[in-house]
Amino acid sequence: MNGMIPARLAMALTAAIFFAASAHATAIVEEGAYVRDPRKKELAGFMKNRELTVDHVTREGYEVYGPRGLRDWLDLIGVEYYVEARDDDTAAYPSPEAVAKRLQDLHAAYPSITKLMNLGKSALGRELLIMKISDNPEVDEPEPEVKYISSMHGDEITGRELMMSLIEDLVKGYGKDERIAELVDNTEIFIMPSMNPDGSFARQRANANGADLNRDFPDFSTDDNQNTPENRQPETQALMRFQAARHFALSANFHGGAEVVNYPWDTTPELHPQDALVKGLSLAYASKVPYMRDSSEFPGGITNGYAWYEVNGGMQDWSSFWYGDLQVTIELSGAKWPDYGAIPRFYRDNKDALLEYLEAVHQGAGFRVAGKPGASGRVEIVRLVDGQSLGTFGFSGSEFYKVLDPGRYRFIVEPNGGDERSLDVEVEASRIFANGNYVTF
Ligand SMILES: [Zn+2]
Repeated sequence: MNGMIPARLAMALTAAIFFAASAHATAIVEEGAYVRDPRKKELAGFMKNRELTVDHVTREGYEVYGPRGLRDWLDLIGVEYYVEARDDDTAAYPSPEAVAKRLQDLHAAYPSITKLMNLGKSALGRELLIMKISDNPEVDEPEPEVKYISSMHGDEITGRELMMSLIEDLVKGYGKDERIAELVDNTEIFIMPSMNPDGSFARQRANANGADLNRDFPDFSTDDNQNTPENRQPETQALMRFQAARHFALSANFHGGAEVVNYPWDTTPELHPQDALVKGLSLAYASKVPYMRDSSEFPGGITNGYAWYEVNGGMQDWSSFWYGDLQVTIELSGAKWPDYGAIPRFYRDNKDALLEYLEAVHQGAGFRVAGKPGASGRVEIVRLVDGQSLGTFGFSGSEFYKVLDPGRYRFIVEPNGGDERSLDVEVEASRIFANGNYVTF
């Protein structure tokens, strides 16, 4: 590859670097192109280039994103690319304001099992809304916490619509459907249909600052390895502060542009300490979705993240590494912005998998610190059968819960300002619903 960068691009790059006061560099994705490159001649060079972001690598090629001027630069270096043709189906989709209104209406209609929370504002000032669904939604009960977040890439819209349908089915099914009632009564479910409403409004990947939110999180394998929200995008900061205040144990992050469940790590070839578990959860999801299960590109409809292509600064690895909150990335549809009429079929195909993944949070164990509502500290989790440490995680708000494979574990708890405690717990494969599997000390 010729290394010459046009002046316009170079200026944008300097601005991006200037804004990053820490080791964190914002990935600017103002312009994108699809590079057909079945022999992957250019891929390694693009991946190494810190000004570029590569996504959705397939046999045929991949997407590449960068600052404005990217396509001129590709022309200059002689790389052939395509720009995705867009139909006129943007107008068929609800606006971010209509999505917010529908969330408010659903909360108003079902106030006893929902709480609509605003995590902060997007770059353009739109509210970042997340719906909590649980019995006693105003109370933080000792129940496992699970979350779904969609459309941090604004032009990947399928997940936003599926999340809205799921919320509607959960609130309307409560009191009618036994499976849903059991789930809602014993779980704290959080669903955020739109992490990047500005991007969805403009039908673009980036937020309104041109930043790729799924390259904006701290990454333990790079020099941006401090779990601090400063100098990140407003949407990222809102998510990070919310996560720090909760006790999530399982989550999924919905995207589009492929059809596969992607499990950690994205950032390193090392296996995740709970590799068998994250792979099993992914396979369970994909096996329930006909078009994923029958994938010709990904056996079983799943892939290890790094084995597919490396991602630095993604939400998935951040969540798992710092909080023990296992997160997979679910690519829901090959078309990022399908015909609106196709959405009900995508929902039908995914509904059972979505419910089962929420239920999976119940295979685990946790603890509560009695009488000290604000207790925080650290906890190391050791698998007793082989003494393997699964990592050390922070906890706050006197609560911690971890999704685990069946077996026996030791939680070595170091509360801030308190004595170390050792708790042995047993996790069974069968679901334990009532009040989770919590030890109180
Ligand atoms: Zn995406």
